[in-house]
Amino acid sequence: EEWKDRGAAVGMKEEYDASGKLVLRQVKKGVRDFVFGRTLGEGSYSTVLLATDRQTLKEYAVKILDKKHIIKEKKIKYVNIEKDTLNRLIEHPGIVRLYYTFQDSSSLYYVLDVASGGELLGVLKKIGSFDEECTRFYGAQILDAIEHMHNRGVIHRDLKPENVLLDDQMHIKITDFGTAKLLPDPRAPRDPTKPYDVTGEEQESTRAKSFVGTAEYVSPELLTDKNACKASDLWAFGCIIYQLLTGRPPFKAGNEYQTFQKIVGLEYEFPLGFPPAARDLVERLLVLDPSRRLTIEHIKNHEFFDGIVWGRGLWRQKAPRLK
Ligand code: ATP
Repeated sequence: EEWKDRGAAVGMKEEYDASGKLVLRQVKKGVRDFVFGRTLGEGSYSTVLLATDRQTLKEYAVKILDKKHIIKEKKIKYVNIEKDTLNRLIEHPGIVRLYYTFQDSSSLYYVLDVASGGELLGVLKKIGSFDEECTRFYGAQILDAIEHMHNRGVIHRDLKPENVLLDDQMHIKITDFGTAKLLPDPRAPRDPTKPYDVTGEEQESTRAKSFVGTAEYVSPELLTDKNACKASDLWAFGCIIYQLLTGRPPFKAGNEYQTFQKIVGLEYEFPLGFPPAARDLVERLLVLDPSRRLTIEHIKNHEFFDGIVWGRGLWRQKAPRLK
């Protein structure tokens, strides 16, 4: 399969040079346009480096994937899903933005927003648990980002505090769209030569293997019907709210099989002192039947989120001090 640099802006930009003459500058970027710095993190298939655009001095996180490794491990499909998904979601502040993609003979490159605050999981582990105010703020930002994804026909399918990054303002940026499911984009004109669902059924079965180690957020419908829907992301959202307040996910056991048993049996408990409004919200999200879970609109109107101003204002707001 080929890798198309569709995310890279291939085109020209009009600019005036020092003498005031109109010149055309090529917008497409390549490896040579960046100065690479320290390593921000490593994944199973990638290394993420801090990089600076030589021209603008803007900093980015560049995710570098080794082609040979991707091909050997049969991950080309996931690499393309991640790119197609990110390209569909570029204008939301709560989602890591993909600016350019390019490649050289050995690697694929994604030029992304830097999330200098690291993972939400790291912050949570450091302080143990969040108070209600912080949970409300971070919960609201996560929900706003999920709403944008869903409106654009993207189901994330792997939401968890490790995949919620934080920027320099301590605002969230959702990442890791490699296992996302792409539904037809309601805004895009339909291309009759292309099938709607690029992930297809085959991926559902391979996916069963790909959530090894992060079983705690898997929805019951994925375990019983091998099928994820938009409401599956809201199950994970319920797990995240619970985890922010208590420091641990609601369903956790010694091994994956036991965790799955707990999930399909809805076996979890609220510790003493769990805030009542949050408890009511979590109970209405951790519902086995996905069609009976709260919708995003209902969640926004839930009393737990009283006082939240939804929409762009949420992203201009100062993050509460973590406590
Ligand atoms: P795996 O593939 O094993 O599941 P992963 O999905 O975390 O790992 P990457 O998304 O490539 O793999 O991320 C690798 C590491 O780099 C992670 O620890 C992540 O926190 C960090 N990282 C990823 N993207 C960014 C970013 N935009 N800004 C800062 N750090 C990032």
